[in-house]
Amino acid sequence: MKKALIIGAGFSGATAAWLLQKKGYAVTVLEGDKNPGGGTWTQFYGGHPYTFGPRIFFTWDQEVYAHMTSMVALRKFNTKTWTYVEQDSQFYHYPLQEADIRLMHDHERIDAELAVAKKKKPSVKNFESYWLDAIGPTLYEKFVHHYSEKMWGIDSNQELVADFNWVNKGTPIRTGDDRLYTDQFQGYPEDKEGYNSYFKKSLMDVQTIYECYVQRFDPETRIVHTTKGEFTGDVIINTIHIDTLFSQAYGKLRYCGRDFLKVMLPIEYALPPEMTWIHYSGKESFTRVTEFKKITGHQSPHTLLGIEIPSKRGRFYPVQSEPELKRFEQYKGLYPTNFFSIGRLGTFKYKGIEDAIREALDLATSL
Ligand SMILES: Cc1cc2nc3c(=O)[nH]c(=O)nc-3n(C[C@H](O)[C@H](O)[C@H](O)COP(=O)(O)OP(=O)(O)OC[C@H]3O[C@@H](n4cnc5c(N)ncnc54)[C@H](O)[C@@H]3O)c2cc1C
Repeated sequence: MKKALIIGAGFSGATAAWLLQKKGYAVTVLEGDKNPGGGTWTQFYGGHPYTFGPRIFFTWDQEVYAHMTSMVALRKFNTKTWTYVEQDSQFYHYPLQEADIRLMHDHERIDAELAVAKKKKPSVKNFESYWLDAIGPTLYEKFVHHYSEKMWGIDSNQELVADFNWVNKGTPIRTGDDRLYTDQFQGYPEDKEGYNSYFKKSLMDVQTIYECYVQRFDPETRIVHTTKGEFTGDVIINTIHIDTLFSQAYGKLRYCGRDFLKVMLPIEYALPPEMTWIHYSGKESFTRVTEFKKITGHQSPHTLLGIEIPSKRGRFYPVQSEPELKRFEQYKGLYPTNFFSIGRLGTFKYKGIEDAIREALDLATSL
């Protein structure tokens, strides 16, 4: 029986574990935390379910959707979000609606800038040049400039690459459809424990070792060194930070972390019915405030808000700058045969739940 060793039990690791176990592999999963799921694991505060930041499922991918719903029942849910722009003292739809521009005191200037932008092919020199060309300086200042810099923990948007393979091509100005995601399938688990049963089911017949922190991997001996001993496998699948695994041989990859504040309020709802979360696009220290009941459907006379504050704690958002992408390519050169690295941390890419599942499906099919 072939042995598969999987490092990390988030969506990519847990999905790969389930699929390989079904294919007849003897699977071992090493997970540093007490639970699987990473930030998508549902926890409770004052009886209210929440995750580390909102974790909505959305995809156009029929197979990924079918896999998700074979593991956990989803409630159809359309996310609608807003942005607060301090310089206008106003909330606008996110993505921005054409009708919002009409409400802006400087709409004539914005229209003129958009007319210029329409004639241009946006420069892909860097993230800033792209957005300045695509939407003009006024909308860039209101919606992109500070938000992007604090979101990625960078000094300037010129640091980020603009190839957009790493991120949704941003925020086209929309008319009509005011959902955040336009994907065909979107939702959130019906169960009050969110995605937890997805992980429990994926790992039920698999040896999963929790609180097993992976320290490094030796590509020559194929040994994974952990706080609970040494492990190996015929196939090794990594889903954690690749620089940790290779002892930072090429230096530390740059990520932005988050502090997460939970605030309970003595009212049934804090945000209007249609709002799931609000982005704060200016120099506020936080990026987003989420009302979890809107996502989980929890019933209570109280409401729980989650506030995300960019910080040096944790490594969640991989900074997509040229030096960091080159550094990641160097790490890829260290992979031995039958070693695979998938998922958000394993590929050093800003991606979502659907991508993590898709990569596990593709890898399991190929093995
Ligand atoms: C704040 C936030 C909000 C998000 N919201 C959404 C959303 O709404 N929709 C969406 O589609 N995506 C969202 N995402 C992204 C999405 O959640 C991830 O892409 C997806 O969960 C990644 O799964 P993964 O398996 O690749 O990685 P992870 O879930 O990060 O799994 C990695 C696992 O490895 C473990 N681990 C890490 N280091 C070690 C170590 N040294 N030793 C052992 N174990 C280790 C971790 O504990 C974790 O369980 C969000 C991300 C963030 C940060």
